[in-house]
Amino acid sequence: MSKVTLTKVLIVGAGPIGLELAACLKHAGVDYLHVEAGQIGQTMSWYPINAHFFSSPERIAIAGLPLHAPDQSKTSREQYLTYLRGVVEYYDLKIRTYETVTHIQRLSPTGFHVTTTKTVYHADNLVLAIGDMHGPRKLNIPGEDLPQVSHYFVEPHRYFRQKLLIVGGRNSAVEAALRCQRVGAYVTLSYRRADFDLEHIKYWLYPELKSLIRAGKITFKPQTVPVEIHADHVVLHSPIENRQSKIPSDFVLLLTGYVMDSKLFELAGVTLKGENRAPVYDQETMQTDVPGLYVAGTAAAGTQVRFHVFIENSHPHVARIVQALTGSPPPDGLVNPVARDFALPES
Ligand SMILES: Cc1cc2nc3c(=O)[nH]c(=O)nc-3n(C[C@H](O)[C@H](O)[C@H](O)COP(=O)(O)OP(=O)(O)OC[C@H]3O[C@@H](n4cnc5c(N)ncnc54)[C@H](O)[C@@H]3O)c2cc1C
Repeated sequence: MSKVTLTKVLIVGAGPIGLELAACLKHAGVDYLHVEAGQIGQTMSWYPINAHFFSSPERIAIAGLPLHAPDQSKTSREQYLTYLRGVVEYYDLKIRTYETVTHIQRLSPTGFHVTTTKTVYHADNLVLAIGDMHGPRKLNIPGEDLPQVSHYFVEPHRYFRQKLLIVGGRNSAVEAALRCQRVGAYVTLSYRRADFDLEHIKYWLYPELKSLIRAGKITFKPQTVPVEIHADHVVLHSPIENRQSKIPSDFVLLLTGYVMDSKLFELAGVTLKGENRAPVYDQETMQTDVPGLYVAGTAAAGTQVRFHVFIENSHPHVARIVQALTGSPPPDGLVNPVARDFALPES
């Protein structure tokens, strides 16, 4: 193994919140290093092509740099990735990309040995800004690993004139159903509930979805769950009717949510609580119950069953960590103040 690199702070994860923190620590002159398993904004990079954020642009802007959408609307995946690259260039942030943290060893009395796929770090403090979407929530049914089955909707074109079964009833599934129907796919939507929960889908999608279902352009199978996937069909089970039906399908999208991999927290000895397995941390500092280990961004929420931690209400995490590590808050404007100034729910 290569020699150990020393640092006062190691940030893990270069999503928007990890990047905002890096800009602040650099500004404060803190000795820090930053590693990222993929490319910066890795989580956004697997959003569907041309997907739009639900949040308004000013709420997901970071590090004091304005974010504008060309049409004054919501920001697209492509615009946001462009913006994040600009933030990194503007502050000249050094990020060790394509380097995954694989192991954390807590040292006595303080500090950590952090092993990555490339080297080992000795960090006095560690910030896990690793997000909460490490993998799909699997159904664990036969056929889930077949090649025509995916847990990620990337782009609609591949489903043109194909029979597509989509499983799920929240934003990802509903948006995929609408976009794929529009490109000429024959869409069936299976959802375990009787109807869609308006709190969980973008409000402008709902009327459109309902009218396409009414018009017979999307086939809706409420209160059904897939139990087997075969090369040319999926078996749906209806617990209410206690019967099974075969749905012919060329492709299957299982859009049933994502889960967090809490391995790094476990390795470091952080207590995880509740059904979300959220790390225990101090609200004032974001320090977990392991001294010197901080959590930032959506990772603070664990696996979110009901989403309540987003980019916009994670900005304060950055200010708290900067204060805890340096003794001073970041200067006005460097951390997005939106959430502090307007305590609105997700917009
Ligand atoms: C289609 C879609 C639309 C969304 N729309 C919105 C929206 O409108 N508003 C909103 O706020 N949120 C939205 N989200 C959720 C959004 O992606 C998260 O809120 C956001 O990514 C959280 O930022 P973060 O910096 O906390 O974590 P992330 O952006 O997830 O960043 C975490 C980073 O850590 C890296 N990482 C993880 N493990 C390791 C490791 N072991 N070693 C090194 N690096 C590691 C990851 O590669 C990743 O780059 C949406 C999600 C999806 C899928």
